This record gives sequence, C-alpha cells and structure tokens, in this order.
Amino acid sequence: MTQYNSVTQEIIEQIVAAIGAENVYTDEVKKEPYSHDELVGKKYNKIPELVVLPTTPEQVAAVVKIANEHTIPVIARGAGTAFTSASVALFGGIVISTERMNQILEIDEENMFMVVEPGATTATVQKAANEKGFLYAGDPCSGDSSFIGGNIGTNAGGNKAVKYGTTRQQVAGVEIVTAEGDIVTLGGKLKKDSSGYNLFHLIIGSEGTLGIVTKCYLRLVPLPESQMDVLAVFPSLKTAIEVVPKIMSAGVNPVCVEFMDNGSVRNCEAYLNESLPDSENGNYIIVSIEGDNEELLEEQLGTIDEICTENGASSVLIADPERIWKARKIYAEADRAISIVTSMEDIVVPTTHIPETIETIAELGEKYGLTIHCAGHAGDGNIHANILKKDLSDEEWDEKLHAIQEEIYAKVYELGGKLSGEHGIGYKRKAVLAQYTNPVEIKLMQAVKKALDPKNILNPGKVIDVE
Ligand SMILES: Cc1cc2nc3c(=O)[nH]c(=O)nc-3n(C[C@H](O)[C@H](O)[C@H](O)COP(=O)(O)OP(=O)(O)OC[C@H]3O[C@@H](n4cnc5c(N)ncnc54)[C@H](O)[C@@H]3O)c2cc1C
Repeated sequence: MTQYNSVTQEIIEQIVAAIGAENVYTDEVKKEPYSHDELVGKKYNKIPELVVLPTTPEQVAAVVKIANEHTIPVIARGAGTAFTSASVALFGGIVISTERMNQILEIDEENMFMVVEPGATTATVQKAANEKGFLYAGDPCSGDSSFIGGNIGTNAGGNKAVKYGTTRQQVAGVEIVTAEGDIVTLGGKLKKDSSGYNLFHLIIGSEGTLGIVTKCYLRLVPLPESQMDVLAVFPSLKTAIEVVPKIMSAGVNPVCVEFMDNGSVRNCEAYLNESLPDSENGNYIIVSIEGDNEELLEEQLGTIDEICTENGASSVLIADPERIWKARKIYAEADRAISIVTSMEDIVVPTTHIPETIETIAELGEKYGLTIHCAGHAGDGNIHANILKKDLSDEEWDEKLHAIQEEIYAKVYELGGKLSGEHGIGYKRKAVLAQYTNPVEIKLMQAVKKALDPKNILNPGKVIDVE
C-alpha cells in the first residue's frame, strides 16, 4: 500500500494561500458531514484531514498539485449520496467538495448541448434544460440532491435509463484535473469523435479514481410534449416481475419500467403517512411513456393495460405522477426509518432473468431470516435489494449479510449479471469486484489506474487495489 503523508500545518498554509481561507475547512465540526455517504458503519466512515471547497478548476488543480507533491490522497466529492463509501477519505487526506462549483455555464440550443459545473444538482440541470424546451435525460431518484459530477463519477442510471441510457449516454465530454494537477478537456460538444482513445468514457464511472471532473458537457434532446405514468398492481411479486420482459418486447418503447415489492410499498406508505393504491397486498410496476402524439400514447397505454391485465394485474391505473414518484423515490429513505443500518444491493441481470433473481432473493431472505425490500429499475434489469439489519447484533448482521451476499452474487454472475448496475463499487464492493471479475480485466484496470494516477492519490482504496 502506498505510504501517504499527513496534511501538516505547512501544507494547510500552502493550500490556504492558493485558494483562500474561506474555501478551507480544518474544524472537526465543519468536516464531519464529509465523513460519510449513505453507507452507515464505523469501517466506512472517517473524518477527512482537510476539506476544501474550491470555486474554479484552477483552484482544484492547485490543491491536487500540492497533494501530488506531498503524496496525500485527494477525494472528489459531490453530494455524498452514494451507497458505497465512495467519497470518504478512508486513507486520510483531503476531500475536494465541488459544492461551490454549481453553475450552469451554457445552454447551446443550436447544437443541443449544455455545459455545467460538477456541483450543480441533477435537478438544477434538468430544470435549466426544461426551461429552454429540452430534456436532460439523466434522472437518478436522488436527483434533487445528487450532483452532476457525482452522477458522472458513478455513471448513475435512474428512471429514464430504459429509453435514454445511463449518465454515460448523456455526457459528450468532461474537463478534468489530472492526478498531476493539469487541466484538460476530453471530448466536448461533438456528436461523434473517432480521434484516438476515448478518454472521457474512462472517466465516466471511475468514481474519482482517474481524474476530478471540473466541467461537464451534456447532451440535450427535445422535451417531449407529454408523459403518462401507468401503475399496474399485482397480487404477487413473481407475476409483477414476469410482466417486465413482456412490456419491454411489446414495442411500446417505455421511458422507464420500475417496480416495488409489497414490503417497499407498505413501508413507503407508512413513512409518507398517506395511502397508496391497493397497498395491502399490491406489488407495483410503474411504466412511463412519453411522446408528442396523444393518439400514439393512448395506443401504447392500451397495449400496456392489455399485457398487465392478461398477466394477472389486479388493477391498472393512470397514476398521479407526483404521488407515485414520491413513493418510489423515498424507498431507501423509508427503509432507513425502520433500520438505520441497511445494505443496498444494486445487482443487474439481463431483463429476462429478473424473475428468477427476485425469487432467489426472496428465498434467501427467508433462509437467513432477513427483511429485504426490493424495488428498482426493472426495465434495465437493475434490482435494488435493500437488506435491513433492524435489531440484529453487529456480529449476527455481519455473518448473515456476508453469507446472503455470497449467495446473491453467485446467482447473479451465474445468470450473466454484475455486482452494480448504477451505484458503483466504492470501498464497499471492492473485494467482491476482484472476486468476480476476470483477473485479466482487473490487470487492465490496474494498468489504466497506474498510468493516470502513478502515485495513487486519487480516491485510493476505491474500485480496485493497485498493489
Ligand atoms: C434516495 C437515493 C436514491 C438514489 N437513486 C439512484 C438512482 O436512481 N440511480 C443511481 O444511479 N443512483 C442512485 N442513488 C445513488 C447516488 O445518488 C448516485 O450514485 C449519485 O450519482 C451520487 O452522486 P453524488 O453527487 O452524491 O456523488 P458522491 O456520493 O459525492 O460521489 C460518488 C462518487 O463520485 C465521485 N465524484 C463525485 N464528484 C466527482 C467529480 N467532480 N469528479 C470525479 N469524481 C467525482 C466520488 O469520488 C465518488 O467516488 C441514490 C441514492 C439515494 C440516497
């Protein structure tokens, strides 16, 4: 393991001189919020030695240069909404918060791109695009708080990925600060580019381990005139999930196909303190369709209704979008209210294997006596299985969690799936990634990391180990 140096008073003074005292936190109370993300647990949380809040790419570069010279870890941080201890300074060092770099720099209507700073929230970006008649199609459920830089860091998926793809498909370029403190633009406002290796795609999903994003070039599409959300309720989770591949192959091109199992529905209802349709035994499938042609939308609606009804739905309703999406989006928060400690699994399988995967998870939950609430982006095979600790002792929890994860991951890989569909690896899943990934692929990842970050200062200990 790389030997890192501590952040000394002398180094703090150099940083203060470079970016201003108002952009540097040394106080423990001010640094505490940066000691964790959504993953709770002693081994995943640590107060950083220093937090900096630069306002320009040049200030980010100045901090990274100093850190590189002294071999000190630097950890890029967005809103800290990841579930994997991804932006925590577990090996000491400096957290670089992007929260003060939050401007929409440009909306280029003719070329249909926007340029934004990494600390803008996803919702701010979406709203700015909408106001000009465009859609920014990245749409994680955390969008009200997550930053666009964090979305790029994790290659966030979300609700519109079925039709538009993940964050990767929304990004055309990034400006980054490299491990040596250079500023470089990779990609840009281009619809195509075959000019050498595509380095910006390497940055997307690299979780701050290959460079720090300081500017984002995002694709825009025309804003569809209308969207409809359909809620189909099924008495059994199995029948609900079995309908997903049927909807996907019916030619309706949905924007999203989400699901919530009955445990999630009831828990969200209790958390929101408002009633949801058929919640007593209902398992939800939420399908959104959009377009400019009302007639076509009605036709698609008919097809979805027919498929769901034929396949066992107890009711198919036009959903109140605000109500249904509020419930879907607070699923993890509602779980946190009944169990502070949870393990949010983010597995992804080919969509035809969702029913089998969900069944296995339910059986394993019973086998280990664990409460698991499943919801997620069924249309792209991405299942969130939130395993709740509730009142188990730490020892019991560690033992059971480890055992159930082993069985879930083994099944997922047997079905051609992967560990994470959108949340990323961070620190939490690093060992499992190494376990399930072809050693040659890991060797290639290590070679890339060593080439781009020779001193291993960029978010060390995350995604892969290099030594
Ligand atoms: C309620 C809830 C719902 C969620 N729903 C979804 C969902 O639908 N889809 C989904 O994909 N995720 C979801 N997430 C997970 C999380 O919100 C996403 O992973 C999001 O992209 C993280 O953004 P952030 O700004 O919080 O990043 P952080 O958590 O701060 O950081 C995440 C990673 O990105 C890196 N990073 C941050 N900024 C930069 C930068 N400027 N340059 C380089 N690297 C950087 C960090 O180092 C870290 O490795 C959800 C989380 C919650 C709490």
